[in-house]
Amino acid sequence: MRVRVVLFTADLRVHDHPPLRAALDASDAVVPLFVRDTGIAANGFLVPNREAFLADCLRDLDAGLRQRGGRLVVRYGDVAEEVAKVVTETDACAVHLAGDVSAYARRREDRLRTALHGIGCEVVVHDAVVTCVPPGAVTPAARDHFAVFTPYHRQWARQHTRPVGRAPRAVTVPDGVGSEPVPERSSVPGVSPGLAEGGERAGRARLTAWLRSGIAAYEDRHDDMAGDATSRLSPDLHFGTVSPVEAVQRSRSAGGPGAEAFVRQLAWRDFHHQVLAARPAASHADYRTRHDQWRSERSARREIEAWRQGCTGYPVVDAAMRQLRHEGWMHNRGRLLAASFLTKTLYVDWRVGARHFLDLLVDGDISNNQMNWQWAAGTGTDSRPNRVLNPVTQGKRYDPDGAYVRRWVPELAGLSGSAVHEPWKLTGKDRAAYDYPDPLIELPDALDRFRQARGLR
Ligand SMILES: Cc1cc2nc3c(=O)[nH]c(=O)nc-3n(C[C@H](O)[C@H](O)[C@H](O)COP(=O)(O)OP(=O)(O)OC[C@H]3O[C@@H](n4cnc5c(N)ncnc54)[C@H](O)[C@@H]3O)c2cc1C
Repeated sequence: MRVRVVLFTADLRVHDHPPLRAALDASDAVVPLFVRDTGIAANGFLVPNREAFLADCLRDLDAGLRQRGGRLVVRYGDVAEEVAKVVTETDACAVHLAGDVSAYARRREDRLRTALHGIGCEVVVHDAVVTCVPPGAVTPAARDHFAVFTPYHRQWARQHTRPVGRAPRAVTVPDGVGSEPVPERSSVPGVSPGLAEGGERAGRARLTAWLRSGIAAYEDRHDDMAGDATSRLSPDLHFGTVSPVEAVQRSRSAGGPGAEAFVRQLAWRDFHHQVLAARPAASHADYRTRHDQWRSERSARREIEAWRQGCTGYPVVDAAMRQLRHEGWMHNRGRLLAASFLTKTLYVDWRVGARHFLDLLVDGDISNNQMNWQWAAGTGTDSRPNRVLNPVTQGKRYDPDGAYVRRWVPELAGLSGSAVHEPWKLTGKDRAAYDYPDPLIELPDALDRFRQARGLR
C-alpha cells in the first residue's frame, strides 16, 4: 500500500487543501497528521485563546475527515521527530505540507527535510495554501520583496490564482496508526469569555454569511467601530479553516466596491507575509529603524499596565483594549488606535504592545501582528512613520455616537453621544459621578515628547 502523510499546520480544513488533494491523488492511503508541537508551547506562543480555538479546529477537522471515512492523527512532541515516527510506522514515501513564512515555520521545514532525508522520505511543500499569492511570487525589479503596499497590490491583483479545490469525497487512513486524543476547548483554562467558535464548519458559515450580507457594505462601514461591520474572518484565516484563495475568489464573484475593498485587505495579509518571508528578523527587530530610544519598560510600568487593563483615561483606547480582553479579538481601527497610543503617545517600544496582543489575540499571527505593530510605530512599511493618531478626534470620527465606547466601558454608559470621548470635560459633581480615570497624559505633552524623540523639533 502506498502511503503519504499530510502534515496539517496553519491549514486546518478539508476544502481547498492542495497538500491533502495531492497526497490522495498519489497514494492508496494518507495519514492526516497534526503535531502538537512542544516547541510552540515552550516559546509561549500557544496562549489560552489560540489554544482553545485550535482545539475547536482540530475537533472539527477530525469530524470532517471522519465524514469521509478517515480521521485525524494527533501526536505531541517535536514536529520533525513525530513526523519521522509516523513515516517509519506507516512506511510512507512522502510528507505533504503547506509552505509558511515565519522563521519558526522555515526551521520546521528544514528540520523535517533533514529528518526525512535519512529515511528516504520526500518532503513536498505546497504554495498558495496559507496565503493567496505565495511570498516571492510578486517582486519589484531587482528586489526580493515589496516594501510598499500600493505597487505590491497592483501586481498582486493581476496574479492568476489557482482554482479552488473541492473537499475530497473519501479519505482512507491506514489501520493501526496511533493517535493522542483530539484536544477539547473545555480543558483550556483562562479563555476570554467572548471567544468565537473555531473550526472549518464555523469558519465556512462565517464566510458564507459575510458574502451574503456583509461584504457589500464593507467599503463604507469597515471603520464603523460600533457597527462591527467587518468579516471577523481573521482567526479562520490564521488557522486556515478558511482558505485565502477561496475567500478571494468568492469575494471577487460577489463583485462590487465592497468586495474590492475586502479583497484589498486580504492582499494586505499577503503583503505582510511576503515582507516577513524576506526579512524574518522583522518579527523582532525594526524593519526600518528610526533610532528610537524607547522609554524603558520599568520607567513606563504604570502606563503600560493602565494600557493593558484599558484604564488610560482615553475612552476609545480603553474600549478597544477591553474588547481584546473580553473577545480575544479587536476591531482594526481599535488596534491602530491602541498601537499608536502605546508607541507614540506613551512612547513605549512596539514589541511590548505586540507581545500583549499575541498573549490575547485569537488571530495572533507573527506576520500580521508584528508588521502591523511596526506600521503603527513607524518602524515598518508606513510611508508616514511620524503620524500620531489622536484618540479623541479618531474616537469622534469612527465612533461618532459613542456606542462602541459605551459597550466596552460601562462606567461611561451614562454619557450620551460623542461626549463619551471626553469625560474630563465634566466638572465637579458631574465628573465625580463617573468612576473612570483621568487621562494618563495630556496629548500635547505626549506629542512634544514624540516629536523630540524622533528629532522632528
Ligand atoms: C497593531 C495591529 C495588530 C494586528 N495584529 C493582527 C494579527 O495578529 N492577526 C491578524 O490577522 N491581523 C492583525 N491585524 C490586522 C487587522 O487588524 C485584522 O486582521 C482585522 O482587524 C481582523 O478583523 P476582520 O477579520 O474582521 O478583518 P476584515 O476587515 O474583515 O479584513 C479581512 C481580512 O483581511 C486581513 N487584513 C485586514 N486588515 C489587515 C492588515 N492591516 N494587515 C494584514 N491583514 C489584514 C485579515 O486576514 C482579515 O481577516 C493587526 C492590526 C494592527 C493595527
